[in-house]
Amino acid sequence: MNVDLHCHTNLSDGSLPPKELIQLAIDRKIDILAITDHDNIDCYREISEPVENLTLITGVEFSTVWRNIGVHIVGLNMDLSNTELLKGIEFQSTAREKRAELIDQRLYNLGFKGCLDGAKRFSRGSQVGRPHFAQHLVDIGAVSNIQQAFKRYLGAGKAGDIKQQWASLGDVISWIRGAGGVAVLAHPTKYKMTRTKLCLLLEDFIALGGEAMEVISGTQTASETQSMARLCKQYNLLASRGSDFHSPGQPWAALGMASELPIDCKPVWSRWTE
Ligand code: AMP
Ligand code: FE
Ligand code: FE
Ligand code: ZN
Repeated sequence: MNVDLHCHTNLSDGSLPPKELIQLAIDRKIDILAITDHDNIDCYREISEPVENLTLITGVEFSTVWRNIGVHIVGLNMDLSNTELLKGIEFQSTAREKRAELIDQRLYNLGFKGCLDGAKRFSRGSQVGRPHFAQHLVDIGAVSNIQQAFKRYLGAGKAGDIKQQWASLGDVISWIRGAGGVAVLAHPTKYKMTRTKLCLLLEDFIALGGEAMEVISGTQTASETQSMARLCKQYNLLASRGSDFHSPGQPWAALGMASELPIDCKPVWSRWTE
């Protein structure tokens, strides 16, 4: 079965509108899809009718912070009319707006004027994220590519990496669970944590109600997969699989093309297909 439970539209930092993303999912013969835009669920307003041969699961990817490290939590299969969840999303959206102003200020202090206006030209009315600031920095020639923008100005520990405004890990998990959903630790290999630290994160995550982790996130090495599968089993978590697709033309995160879960992992989708 082809399952992709992590991808983005142009309502966060992806490039495709929701309907085009759904069409691509159909073309790729995806059976179960969850769209997980950063901190918002606006895409689900644009997809009202059921899609033939495709099970669409509700999703969101919340930004949070754990021990001063930015961590992402995916929520799956939530009731999107849940009041606490909606309040949570509102909180994150305000936090994101405030953060964008702070990033603008920080970049201004480094000599780059008008970055928020520049970033907004790329987000085109949708929420502003660091990738939009990165696109602006490339556009004005401050850096030669997006990677360099993160490496110098926006990535972990750099001036534009501001994360204290996000809701706590506990709040994010409780919004997801309160809406009947499953909380999934997103892309655990991306945090560059030691195994010991990742175990501490998983222990806190589980104590707060987290139930699953992405054993497969986009393209990863066999040894990463093995190591994530081992952790997943050690902590008795459900396993998720997602491409973290943002745009066509990024082969390391192609929609519906992530590897299969190792057979000894219990798929998170067994929750709503069994
Ligand atoms: P934000 O939600 O605004 O904090 O932006 C986070 C997003 O930036 C991630 O979901 C990725 O899409 C993107 N991102 C993070 N780090 C990098 C990087 N080093 N290079 C390119 N994109 C990145
Ligand atoms: Fe993203
Ligand atoms: Fe993420
Ligand atoms: Zn993502």
